[in-house]
Amino acid sequence: MDTFRFISATHPSQAIETAAKSPTAQLGATVRFVAGGTNLVDLMTLNVERPQVVIDINGLPLDKVERLPSGGLRIGALVRNSDLAHHPAVTKDYAVLSQALLSGASPQLRNMATTGGNLLQRTRCVYFRDTAHACNKRQPGSGCSALDGYNRNLAILGTSDDCIASNPSDMNVALAALEATIHVRGTHGERIIPIQNFYLLPGNTPNKETILEPGDLITYVTLPPPVAGTRSLYLKLRDRAAYEFALASAAIVMNADGGKVRHVRVALGGVGTRPWRSFEAERELSGKEATPANFHRAAEAALKAAQPRSGNAFKAELSKRCLVRALTMASKNA
Ligand code: SF4
Repeated sequence: MDTFRFISATHPSQAIETAAKSPTAQLGATVRFVAGGTNLVDLMTLNVERPQVVIDINGLPLDKVERLPSGGLRIGALVRNSDLAHHPAVTKDYAVLSQALLSGASPQLRNMATTGGNLLQRTRCVYFRDTAHACNKRQPGSGCSALDGYNRNLAILGTSDDCIASNPSDMNVALAALEATIHVRGTHGERIIPIQNFYLLPGNTPNKETILEPGDLITYVTLPPPVAGTRSLYLKLRDRAAYEFALASAAIVMNADGGKVRHVRVALGGVGTRPWRSFEAERELSGKEATPANFHRAAEAALKAAQPRSGNAFKAELSKRCLVRALTMASKNA
């Protein structure tokens, strides 16, 4: 690990002004914020991230979960994953988020990892984490070792010829289904970004993962009020029962009261280069009967654009089965 300067921020503007001096907020940033450190420190020890300045933001007042007057929820960027998963408002009204958080990592990691950090969690593509291999995300233009290499855990939706890295977060998939909004404070003031617009597809610049600019600090995530009559759930399929990333997952928010789908939001994990909201599945389901045949049609639509590689072709079928199972479970709950 390279040497770096460590600063403790006491006010958001101090952190933002310092971070704005970095030439980028994407890979290669010379200034990084750190909170839980569960991902950044890993990448620094691997020499994948090499910031010259690390700003500790743990002292900023961003660690609360609060009800909004609208009935929605405001989640501070520094709220720990374990605190969020067990918060009464989350377990009551946003079960999909609680379940997704508890399915991720280990209790120790969840006690440290924060909401803001989880939003920015980096891919577990093995070549990204190993500087001995070509990786366009880590070193633009160097090539992608995963295209014909070990790609079992990588994406089949939203990929490009330059990168097929999957977004590893469970929380982000639940937030996509909940239509969360991300609040960012930067040098030009505050921005409110729907999660659907926050992540970039890899295209030919996989080193750029989000729309964040130098100095941007994630301050809050807000959730809309729960839709009356909806139930939500997160189903995760993986190689072992704990401490493992998703091969396929599904986050569902649905009202199938009376056997008809009146409201539905679908997001997939493990298969997308970003948390994958499936508008295709939602279109197939909206207004239809909550039947196995319609669930299968929705799953076919969701995975229609899949582009599997040699080692992850199984994911298309796995993801379809995961989605059908999750929809079945959600409709029985309703
Ligand atoms: Fe790098 Fe993306 Fe290719 Fe993995 S899939 S080696 S992260 S460019």
